Amino acid sequence: MQPAVVWDPALLGYDLGGEHPFNPVRLDLTVRLATELGVLDGVELLVPEPATDTELYRIHAEEYLAAVKLAPTAGWDVGHGLGTADNPVFSDMHDASALVVGSTLLGARKIADGEARRAVNIAGGLHHAMRGRAAGFCVYNDCAVAISWLLDHGFDRIAYVDTDVHHGDGVQAAFYGDPRVLTVSLHQHPFTLWPGTGYSAETGSGEAEGTSVNVPLPPGTRDAGWLRAFHAVVPSLLEVFRPQILVTQCGVDSHEEDPLADLALSVDGHRTIYATLRDLAERHAEGRWLAVGGGGYQLIRVVPRSWTHLMATVLDRDVKPETPLPPNWVNTVLRAAPSAELPPEMTDGRDTTYHSWGDGADDPVDVAIRDTRRALFPLHGLDPDDPRD
Ligand SMILES: [Zn+2]
Repeated sequence: MQPAVVWDPALLGYDLGGEHPFNPVRLDLTVRLATELGVLDGVELLVPEPATDTELYRIHAEEYLAAVKLAPTAGWDVGHGLGTADNPVFSDMHDASALVVGSTLLGARKIADGEARRAVNIAGGLHHAMRGRAAGFCVYNDCAVAISWLLDHGFDRIAYVDTDVHHGDGVQAAFYGDPRVLTVSLHQHPFTLWPGTGYSAETGSGEAEGTSVNVPLPPGTRDAGWLRAFHAVVPSLLEVFRPQILVTQCGVDSHEEDPLADLALSVDGHRTIYATLRDLAERHAEGRWLAVGGGGYQLIRVVPRSWTHLMATVLDRDVKPETPLPPNWVNTVLRAAPSAELPPEMTDGRDTTYHSWGDGADDPVDVAIRDTRRALFPLHGLDPDDPRD
């Protein structure tokens, strides 16, 4: 069964304009790079339909949809976080945003229908959008709508893992009281980065206590620290939660060169993360894996390489790190951006070996590991201080 790859150039219409960092050129360059490397050879790209209003109402308020539709022609402030520097109003904003949701829903449908075990949509991952408010470049929350849809189509244990540098606050908020959805977010510490949430103590409410997981990492965390924290927290919780599907937001603004944040991962780290997520889906979720994109603002040097690795991982066509960047792709980039300094290969030359938590060393990420394990593990019958758990 071939994985579902969702892509349509119409998704480039989600364009916040001008100098806004969320520039759709990153998606275009990614698809071109993956194509040049043969990652998409023989793969039918699935063309999405916009999500309907009814589908969007799963997560979003009716008055918010009305405001999004009205905003481009209103001539006044429609509120709801729209028209700010982060979330500028653009023409076709509703249609373009609904198409992003429809593209993630299409991937979810293919998995729910048994037509694919895995699906990938690099245009998705708009994890900050709230019920009645745009936030952090996100108008509608495709991740949350897709999870909500899956809950009504045969799934009642869904694990969401968010590797974006920012806290996955919109998805966490949507399911904070829902024990059927385990949300996990690893991100730069909220003291030091917008949106200022995602503390270890945010663990879910009521009967969902223990199903919201946050690992706030110190600025400067590199691949080895990130992976140490991930492995100290996530696999054990997945083993206990026994998800039927893994939904992952794969933002790549955790890269060292990203202009908006201060973690220090590499393309090699991202590649390792994707292989790890694939393994976890195989081991804990019967192989079902819905992967979406997210943040990532080093548009030329980082996003295309990292998300090409993501698509390759989903397709089991892993690209070797030392693979050179194809000349056709390089020429395309240089025609548009003659001063771009491109890396030569699909690697940053980093070794992603990490040391497991509990090795006696005192790594800077161990504060986060201890806090998160102590907040969560007892709720799942696990020992927070025993590295074997
Ligand atoms: Zn982000």
